[in-house]
Order: sequence, then structure tokens, then C-alpha cells
Amino acid sequence: MLQITKENLNTLFMTDSEMKEMLHKEFHSMCYVCEEATRHTEIDHFFPQKNYPEKAMEWSNLFLICQKCNKIKGNRFNIPEKEILNVLVDNVDELISLQLHDGTVQINTVNGESIELTNKIKNTYELLEAVYNQASMSSVQLRQILNNELKDFSMVYINYKKATDIFKDGFIQLIRERLNKNAAYELKHRGFISFKRKIIESDLELLNRLSMLD
Ligand SMILES: [Zn+2]
Repeated sequence: MLQITKENLNTLFMTDSEMKEMLHKEFHSMCYVCEEATRHTEIDHFFPQKNYPEKAMEWSNLFLICQKCNKIKGNRFNIPEKEILNVLVDNVDELISLQLHDGTVQINTVNGESIELTNKIKNTYELLEAVYNQASMSSVQLRQILNNELKDFSMVYINYKKATDIFKDGFIQLIRERLNKNAAYELKHRGFISFKRKIIESDLELLNRLSMLD
């Protein structure tokens, strides 16, 4: 899931297309559920309008979601007793980690500090399972896109490992670009950042070099 920060805006005089444009900026054109960078997006009411009409126009309740995830989330989540983690508030990167393994997305969770948090983690797990690991066309398609993108990233990483010292910097630059949320970067290599971070998480030397560039 995509951890982000969000400005506080007044939506009163905004048109739908202006709202969507702002959301694309804030979410770097990535779906907050599956992390795909895509133009096929919709505006998600994090807490559904049906159950929480008072939140319908609150900026902090509007999220950028892809069409596939919106269909799955629908009105099934974030209704009472079925809350999911909020990428604006909860530290999702520490609570859930994602890895593609043998064509399936492994979703690893930690125990929450409270029953409330544990329940949110459990519900989020259920949502992510439905998004990534079903036999449906949209889920198969998403795994394919994810697989291609992670292959590309792994190839850059392998080339970095193999390169002699003077060539390493060039590959570090490529790795850095693929971990960058910035909307200025090429759309197709922008998504799935948490999966990519997982691939390099134990390479302290690389992490150190990347942080030196920040
Ligand atoms: Zn999505």
C-alpha cells in the first residue's frame, strides 16, 4: 500500500476533474491499494458515502484508486466493524510487507498494538488478498504487470551488483528513479515501491549509498 501525506484542501468549489488532478499529484498517479501507477483511476471515498455521508466531500476522505481496486473495495470495506488501515495515518510500511513469490503475492502482517489495529490489519489483508491473489482477469492482469515491473527492477539491481565500482553509480541512479514517488518520473516504472524496497531491504551497502544521494 502507498504511504502518503496529504494537504488539507477545501473541496467546496472544486469540480470532479480538478479534484482528480489534485489527487493524481498527491498520490503520484499511484493507486493507494495496489500501488500500480496508472491513468485508469477513480476517486475513492475512503469511508463510503453510503455509510458516512458527512465525509463525502472531506478532502482527507478522498483517495486515488484504480478502477480494479475500486470495484473490489466497493462498499465492502471501511463500513463499521470492517475498517482497513489508513495510508495517511497508519504506518502501513511497518505493518504489512508485500513480496511476489512464485506468481503469488505474499502478504506478511505483524500483530497490532491494540485489538482495533489488529482488526484493521486483518481487514486490510483480506482486501489485498482479493486485489492481488484471485483467479479473476483483473487480478491475473495485475500480477502480470507487477511481475514485469519487478523483473525490470531486479535486472537493474543485478547489474548494479555485477558492475565494477566506477559503473555502480549509474545503476544506483536507475534504482533511485524506480523508488521515487515523484510524478515527474516515467509512469510505467513508478509503481509498486514497497515491493521494490523489499527486494533490496537487506542490502545495507546499497541502502547507505541511496541515502547518501538524498
Ligand atoms: Zn489498484
